[in-house]
Amino acid sequence: MKYTLPPLSYEYNALEPYIDAQTMEIHHSKHHQGYIDKLNTALEQYPVLQEKSLSSLLSHLAEIPEDIRETVRNNGGGHYNHTLFWETLSPSPQKSPQGNLLKKIEETFGSLKKVQDTLTQTALNRFGSGWGWLWTDTQGNLFISSTPNQDSPLMKGGIELLGIDVWEHAYYLSYQNRRADYIAAWWQLVDWGIVEKRYNNIIS
Ligand code: MN
Repeated sequence: MKYTLPPLSYEYNALEPYIDAQTMEIHHSKHHQGYIDKLNTALEQYPVLQEKSLSSLLSHLAEIPEDIRETVRNNGGGHYNHTLFWETLSPSPQKSPQGNLLKKIEETFGSLKKVQDTLTQTALNRFGSGWGWLWTDTQGNLFISSTPNQDSPLMKGGIELLGIDVWEHAYYLSYQNRRADYIAAWWQLVDWGIVEKRYNNIIS
């Protein structure tokens, strides 16, 4: 079975003025599609791997045949990360978590504001291309960190709750070198209701 591009639940222009329509269209229909195409090509000769879930492939990279391991890491990671990225954004987002996740955030970091500040700094400090993450372990403990390229916490046993793409393709048309402005705009679109739902599914 081949991987296919998941449709967005909103239009390309729905996230304006924070993320412009052209950036959305190129990011989704070219970049994300590109990761999927390369992943499918890499798996063509390995029907056994095609039967496994993407998260299972990415969390057991050492078991992937060496000739396609880097390709699966980069492009499987690209597909996985972008799927999450689109899902957690909304033109009319819920501005805060409310239940379990808010409680855990306050316990761990002090406040939602502190999470936003820390993830912003972490994403800002990522040198070159990569991602900033809020993620959990299977016990529900929360962590903030960043990864290069299309790596993710999943590759080290974590589960992503929220990720910000800081590759230049995510923001250059509107923000050029102003990564901080893009990150501030991105926060306006984060739907904490969706993030909390992910968290509850993991810890339940
Ligand atoms: Mn991207």
